[in-house]
Amino acid sequence: MEIIIEGATISLLKGDITLEETDIIVNAANSRLAGGGGVDGAIHRAGGPAIMEECRKIGGCPTGSAVMTTGGKLSARFVIHAVGPIYKDGLHNEPMLLESAYRGSLKLAVQKGVGSIAFPSISTGAYGYPVDAASKIALSTVLDFVGDNKGSLDLVRFVLFSDPDYGVYSRTLRSLTE
Ligand code: ADP
Repeated sequence: MEIIIEGATISLLKGDITLEETDIIVNAANSRLAGGGGVDGAIHRAGGPAIMEECRKIGGCPTGSAVMTTGGKLSARFVIHAVGPIYKDGLHNEPMLLESAYRGSLKLAVQKGVGSIAFPSISTGAYGYPVDAASKIALSTVLDFVGDNKGSLDLVRFVLFSDPDYGVYSRTLRSLTE
């Protein structure tokens, strides 16, 4: 599914984010930038050791923030490592921290002057954030950002790893834009 807002394409697709050819792909990282399972493991496996080398130099990244490294062997030129919150009950600043992880990534992309960025569904795997609530935060943050930064990004894509996640994100995008 795809919509165009303020000249920017917002696109949803089901697949493996490591294969994306956007300028940047975003990793759902942990605050130690230590690698791990899920999309983090997949990105480091596909991108090779250059990414972890830079992560070690950076040292860490607080929850709700994002840092950038090379894309190594990936098609993407850069990886943004965004640290979403571990979901407890929704009453521990999780919504604000998730929004901030997305917003920080978008800001880094614009600072770098690139046109396209792809996100996974941050925090909704091992970190347990309910997908429906997370999709509302993810998509409304992106829609707000492209509205406030017209002409800066051509393409913001979400690469969802399962049919159910794709369905949830599609419903949310429709309800936020109709
Ligand atoms: P977190 O710790 O932030 O919850 P996870 O990696 O556990 O991060 O999960 C985030 C989302 O990424 C989940 O929906 C998971 O299914 C998905 N995911 C896992 N591997 C990939 C991949 N290769 N491409 C895109 N999404 C992926």
